[in-house]
Amino acid sequence: MAARRELIDAIPDRPNDTREVNRRTFLKAAALPCLAAGAADILAPALKGGGAAGQDDARFVVEAKFYEKLAHKKIKCKLCPRECVIDDRERGYCGVRENRGGTYYTLVHSRLVSAHVDPIEKKPFFHYLPGTLAFSIATAGCNVNCKMCQNWEISQVRPEQVRSTYAPPEKVAALAGQYKCSAIAYTYSEPIIFYEYMMDTARAGHEAGIKSVVVTGGYISQDPLKKLCVAVDAIKVDLKAFSEKYFKEVVNGELKPVLDALVTMRKLGMWSEIVYLVVPTLNDSDQELKALARWIKSDLGLDVPVHFSRFHPEYLLKNLPPTPLETLERAKAIADAEGLHYVYLGNVPGHPAENTYCPKCRRVVVERMGYIIKGIQIRKGKCQYCQQPIAGVWQT
Ligand code: SF4
Repeated sequence: MAARRELIDAIPDRPNDTREVNRRTFLKAAALPCLAAGAADILAPALKGGGAAGQDDARFVVEAKFYEKLAHKKIKCKLCPRECVIDDRERGYCGVRENRGGTYYTLVHSRLVSAHVDPIEKKPFFHYLPGTLAFSIATAGCNVNCKMCQNWEISQVRPEQVRSTYAPPEKVAALAGQYKCSAIAYTYSEPIIFYEYMMDTARAGHEAGIKSVVVTGGYISQDPLKKLCVAVDAIKVDLKAFSEKYFKEVVNGELKPVLDALVTMRKLGMWSEIVYLVVPTLNDSDQELKALARWIKSDLGLDVPVHFSRFHPEYLLKNLPPTPLETLERAKAIADAEGLHYVYLGNVPGHPAENTYCPKCRRVVVERMGYIIKGIQIRKGKCQYCQQPIAGVWQT
């Protein structure tokens, strides 16, 4: 965890930062067992029988799928591009994978820390089964450390530091069915780091007739990504910026592997949408936004939905203001000018850029108000007015 510590220590001096770092450090040291107990609180009755588990519950520990054994009981994790090399009895950067005697294990299989029933629009997926519900789950952990993380209480902690509930894949699939969800969504923290649980749950979901959708930063290696694309139905990628500098300084990750992941998803026919959180002064220049839109156009095509989302001060970036509406509208105008077909604004309920417009006749084909669908004018995947195909997966 040394690299993560360094990132925290490297935060520039700003009025609020010291307070935030101290608060986080304090919480990590003293009080975390009570944090982020969404699953236990919201679905406790439903999960009874799966049940709360002790922190040393062996049911959470399953051999990892992507790693290489090295000399002297070391291993190299091959799940994400960080490729941690880990000594015996140590963990990788994400804190949820452990080397035990030269064998690598995930510690978070079936170790649920958060579960909610959300509109699928909240993920957001706008072109994937709109108006349906997603049974949304998470474990602790993440393979990056974004300074603006909204879910840092579960993403930036080790599994022992949050209350968890034992929820095996079949139980999750059954609950998703019980709550009339069209899909199970792997979300809130970073689902790549609970890859084995996600894959097993997607299989259980499919056996029960329920889809699987992934909400990720896209920082994943190619081999596990290709297998993931076979197992799930849609992936939303938080493309956090279009510069390596931002990824290095704000995310503690890399841009290139995320772009490679998006291209692979596209090639494999995976339905994908992109969210770009527009952070004032850090990733909102005309130059960066234009480069982003041009890359999407040339490498992914015009039909990938792009959501420019409003930033709210969070976690280690409380010194910045929320994204001005004019900035979001400027980002949309730049992407529209490049010809992208489906460009949305996020976190601005009631804005006309929440709607889907037919790229040919420009009429509204999906009308939204926040997460509520007010009308869908798509039949058999086509605009009801002019018969233009509308990219996506539609139930009408
Ligand atoms: S998944 Fe975790 S352990 Fe594996 S390389 Fe990524 S950060 Fe390291």
